[in-house]
Amino acid sequence: MADVLNSTRENRQKFAGKPSLSPGIIWLGTNTCDGNIISTMNTFRPSLQEVLEDFDFYYSSMIMAPEGESASEKWRLPQVQKGAFILVVEGTVPTAYAGKTAVVGQVNGQNITALELVKELGTLARWVVAAGVCASFGGPYAAYPNPTGSVAVSKVLNRPVINVPGCPVNPRWVLETLYYLKEKGAPELDPLGRPRFLYKDTVHSRCEFLPLFEAGIFAQEIGQKGCTYLLGCKGPSTRADCPVRLWNDEKSAWNVGVNSICIGCTSPEFPDQVAPFFKHETDLYFKPKRINLDSLALGTAAFTLAGIGAHLAGKVLTGRVKLGSKKPVPTLSLVRKGFKKLKDSKK
Ligand code: SF4
Repeated sequence: MADVLNSTRENRQKFAGKPSLSPGIIWLGTNTCDGNIISTMNTFRPSLQEVLEDFDFYYSSMIMAPEGESASEKWRLPQVQKGAFILVVEGTVPTAYAGKTAVVGQVNGQNITALELVKELGTLARWVVAAGVCASFGGPYAAYPNPTGSVAVSKVLNRPVINVPGCPVNPRWVLETLYYLKEKGAPELDPLGRPRFLYKDTVHSRCEFLPLFEAGIFAQEIGQKGCTYLLGCKGPSTRADCPVRLWNDEKSAWNVGVNSICIGCTSPEFPDQVAPFFKHETDLYFKPKRINLDSLALGTAAFTLAGIGAHLAGKVLTGRVKLGSKKPVPTLSLVRKGFKKLKDSKK
């Protein structure tokens, strides 16, 4: 990816002082906390200034000066009507109540909903990028019980959408996607619409604690350095390059690197099917309802613990858990403790 960013820098020097040849961007926030554009604006390399020199931001409520109807006029720019722009959407598109739970602006005194605008601009745009997990897959804004009928951007458009999930998105993921579009065109996507060059590998496969996982050595509590698999880490089922990318251009650490867990925020299952985050896969999920096994009858709990026991036994047999190690490992006593806890909670 560095080649794309370098060639952009060379182009900037080559065309210094000449009219911008950059593609324009409309960055539209729908049902969102705006965390994705805030994350993107925190970029170190390229700097935000360089990004604004490399792309014409026709519209972004967080970057532009105009507001109200003078901001909405940007949607009618001739370049936009000709489709010479990239539409970046962050947030879900609410579909309940004819989309009226998300009004994103006004034109001639009439409210414009996110549903209307995403459909209109999404049909015109050269490319559509969904920035963040909400726009990509629904995420927290479409979480159960989802009263606004929120859906991912791809659900309201009859065209390919480039999904760049994360909660929030890593600045480099969305910027490298935009630079890739600018320099090379559409990237290869995985079956979930994510650029393969960003989401090819699981977090687990590149994690610094993989050797500890394979040796069956696990952290016993949050804050303890080590593999947090038994504390709820979703790294094995999550695709992203966080362990090597880190955050803000390698200036900050990442969740597991600071002795916490991966919560699976780049997956379509996030957040309903990966919650509670700090719990190791002992919950069952029957969409749209999640059942916490701790609250079920003892018989069910026993069944669960039998499952955990079998899970651990499987790990022992495959060599992933070494019983008798001096390091903290999950043992059958852990299962016994869990069983006692559940019995106590029934008294
Ligand atoms: Fe895998 Fe998570 Fe353990 Fe890292 S901390 S090795 S991602 S389970």
